[in-house]
Amino acid sequence: MTLTNLTTAIAATTEEQIDRCHRIFDLNNNTVFYMVESESDPTTEYKVTYCKEYGFQCTCAAGQEGFAHCYKNGVCKHCVWACAAAAQFHKDEIAEQSAITSLMGSGVSRETATALAYSTLPIECEQDTVIDRDWQAQVAKVEAHERRTVKRYGAKAYESNTFSLLK
Ligand SMILES: [Zn+2]
Repeated sequence: MTLTNLTTAIAATTEEQIDRCHRIFDLNNNTVFYMVESESDPTTEYKVTYCKEYGFQCTCAAGQEGFAHCYKNGVCKHCVWACAAAAQFHKDEIAEQSAITSLMGSGVSRETATALAYSTLPIECEQDTVIDRDWQAQVAKVEAHERRTVKRYGAKAYESNTFSLLK
């Protein structure tokens, strides 16, 4: 397999092909694999895995013969699409992380920032953005109040009796 061919093939993967790939996290051994829908039969899915020892593996016909006939990329198209899907996933993850960091910079907690980042990405239309900003401001206000209360009353701020709230 030549890396250049594979890189080019990954870059040429379409959005539709990426959508056929489903990222699965295997809790049994903490690995990620992809289930990729067959192009000719959407009810069929192939499992694409990668490990250092065996490289790419796919449960499709081409994969079962060790990609012996995949002259161009050295792997079947399912592996190529899964690579593109993985790249897309990490790109989204980086976008989310930077959104979270910038929200945290405006004073909200990591938890809230994460919730906001996931709910606002991608920003669909201007109206949504306004609503999100409003919400963000509300959340920041509530959190600031919480911080002040905690600063003043410590752990008591969370007690449900009215003692700390009324003072
Ligand atoms: Zn395959």
